[in-house]
Formats: sequence, structure tokens, C-alpha cells
Amino acid sequence: MNQRLKPVRGMRDILPEDSARFSLIEDTFRSVLSGYSYEEIRLPIVESKNLFDRGLGESTDAVSKEMYSFHDRDSSELALRPEGTASCARAIVNHSMAHEDKPRLWYAGPMFRHERPQAGRYRQFQQVGAEAFGYSGPAIDFELIQIVTNVLESLGLIESVTLLINNIGDATARARFRDALVNYLNPYESDLDSDSRTRLHKNPMRILDSKNERTQTILEGAPKLKEFVGDHSTERFELILGMLSEAQIAYEVADQLVRGFDYYTDSVFEWVTDQIGAQDAVCAGGRYDGLIELLGGKPTPGIGFAAGVDRIALLKSETQEDASYRSTDVYLIALSEDQRSYVSEIAKRIRQGTNLRVREHTEPGRMGSKMRWADKSGATWAVIAGESEEVELNVSIKWLRSDREQLRVPLVGMLEVLKAA
Ligand code: ATP
Ligand code: MG
Repeated sequence: MNQRLKPVRGMRDILPEDSARFSLIEDTFRSVLSGYSYEEIRLPIVESKNLFDRGLGESTDAVSKEMYSFHDRDSSELALRPEGTASCARAIVNHSMAHEDKPRLWYAGPMFRHERPQAGRYRQFQQVGAEAFGYSGPAIDFELIQIVTNVLESLGLIESVTLLINNIGDATARARFRDALVNYLNPYESDLDSDSRTRLHKNPMRILDSKNERTQTILEGAPKLKEFVGDHSTERFELILGMLSEAQIAYEVADQLVRGFDYYTDSVFEWVTDQIGAQDAVCAGGRYDGLIELLGGKPTPGIGFAAGVDRIALLKSETQEDASYRSTDVYLIALSEDQRSYVSEIAKRIRQGTNLRVREHTEPGRMGSKMRWADKSGATWAVIAGESEEVELNVSIKWLRSDREQLRVPLVGMLEVLKAA
């Protein structure tokens, strides 16, 4: 068995430098969401396949083509979750939370879709999502958009994205629109791209999303969804747009934005970017007033978003010059094994008294080799202790990234020097 083992296609290792970027993105979501008093929920990665068939609709790509489903040992059908909203809604129903608590929740974790892997599209990817149940007013739509805006601002990415927003109305409006669209497209069936031809019978509204130019030209004369949407929904949508303008959140109303899942109603939104290639959506969401009922709960309005952490990380690395990645601030060296416990004491003091990241040199070796390791670590300082330092309760501090002269200071004054830098 000398063939090298590799990750499964579409699944990848996130190495430390990228991992730090992922953590920063997740931590920013966590902190902004907690500032809006959203609570974390942790959901299973494996669910009954049935949950997604019912919740997402069997005609959506995520269910019909992309689901990682398999049989358990007792032959029940399971699936790796392709997204978080259905699980979240299931949890709400199971714990009878929606009515009493009007929960505002968030989750983070891996999602699985059997897609064609390419830059920005993986079979395992990471999402952070938020959902609010029990709210029907436009202010909650606005709040969720504001949350994502705050996160993207914090990450320095707001200039790199465009917020697209649309109103797709309720199920009745969409059904009438769907019929009108199919009637209009039927005569053009053979001119459509092959994906759109399939969708014409299964999920015609997704044709609006087609990237095919010929299909888009045909669509120019098609009936418009907004002509089918009721007055109440239109008014609500106008209110959201008003709040966004007032908060100076830039948006574009995008008629073609319909979203992939069947459960959406009324407002849908998506942040796209032109800086990471074809997989341009970094975060998407919308209202899904029918979902809880669909899963057996009392009718409860719901709304949420899911952000693609992999794509936001990609956007960050494409658009921002990274301060070169470092994991260590202080590299600690004992001149000989005799100073091991003295050096441990030094490390303890730095870790307790600062937020600096301290790495102790653990292997025996010559001083020259230890210093090379110190340099390679990216640390700002090497803190060195030999016999005389230990006897006098001193440390030697060497600046690794500047010409400053090495300094010998008493242990009690060490933190002051490190903090002053
Ligand atoms: P797309 O149109 O790119 O397939 P989607 O409509 O399927 O996206 P959602 O289900 O709304 O995406 O998921 C929300 C976000 O999760 C997307 O905007 C994207 O950033 C991210 N995402 C979705 N699928 C993938 C994937 N296969 N790999 C990486 N990120 C993904
Ligand atoms: Mg998709």
C-alpha cells in the first residue's frame, strides 16, 4: 500500500494559515451575532434524508443532485446535511420553541453537497448561518441584512461585495408566475441550455438563474415575477428597501434572484462579488414563512441567511494584503537542559501576563540551531536563559525582526519590555 492517501474529492484540509482566516471570519460572525442577541444552536451533521426531501423540495439541486445520502445499518435513509436551515427548523418544531420564544439563533459548521469541485465550490464547505423564527415584520429582514453588513464591514470586505435583493412573493404568486413562465418558455424549449431544459419541467424558476447567454436573451421577453406578487408583499418589500436606504446600506434590486430552495417566500437576498471567479455568492438568505408548517409545526414565519466561510476566506485572500501569517510572538530558549524548569517559569509568566503566543524550544541542540528555529518561527523576540540568567533571575531578550541590541533584564521587568513593543 504505497499509494498516497488523499482527501476525498471536493473535501480539503484547511491548513493553519487558512484556518486562521476561517477563525477570524467565524469569530466576527459570532461577536456581531451575539451583539444582536442571537443565540448559538449546535445541530447534528447527519439527519434523516426525509428532512431535506420535505424541507428543501425534491426538485432543488441540493436534494435531487447534490445530496450525500446513504443507508444506515438498519437501512434507514440518512444524509449529511447540505445546509442548516432545515435542521434548525426541525429543532424548533421538536422543542416547540417558535411560539413561546421567538428564537433568534445562529449556527456554524460543515455542509456537504456532491457538486463539481472548483475554486470556491467544494463538497464539504463551512457555513455560518442565522435564523429568526416568529417574526413577520420587515424590521427583522432589515436586521439580518444589517448583521451581515456589519460582519463584512468588520472584515474590510464591504467594498468588495454587492447586496442583491428581490421579492419573490408567496407560494400562490409564485405558482401563477411559474405557469406563466412555463407557457412563455415552452415554445423555446429546444433553444434553452440543457440545464434549463431539465428545469423547465422540474423547477422552472431556477431558469432565471441561468448563466447561458442565449437563455438569458430568451428570458428578456418573459413575464416578470414582480407582476404576480401581491400588494401586501410588495409594500413590505418597499419598507425593507426604505430601511436599507435610511441606514445607507447599498443594494440592487435583482429581478432574476430567486434562490435555490423551494421554501423561500417574499424577500430573498444575496451578497455577490466579482473578485473570486465564477462562484460569486458569498452569503445568501431570505424569508421562508412556510417551512415550519411544512415540517409539522404551527405556521410560523422564519427568515435567515447562510454565509459561505470558504468563499469569504477566498475573497479576503484575493483582496487584502495579508500581514504575513505568524503563530508565535516569543520564542523561548534554554541554553542547556539545566534551565528547562526556569524557562518554563518564564513561559508561564508571559502567558499569564500577556496575550503573547509563546513557543518553547523543546529539542536539545546547539545554540545556532535553536536560533534558526527561533527565526523560522516568525517570532518577534527570542527570550534566552542560560546558567547566569537563571542564577541572577534575569532573561536575555533578542529582537529577531530588527537591529535592536540584545537586552538583559531582570525577570520581574521582562513583561514591561515585551508589552512596550
Ligand atoms: P451557489 O449558487 O453558489 O450554488 P447556493 O444558492 O447553492 O449557492 P446557498 O445554499 O444559499 O448557496 O448557501 C449559502 C452560501 O454558502 C453560498 O452563498 C455560498 O457562499 C456557500 N456555498 C454554497 N455551496 C457551496 C459549495 N459547494 N462550496 C462552497 N461554498 C458554498
Ligand atoms: Mg448551489
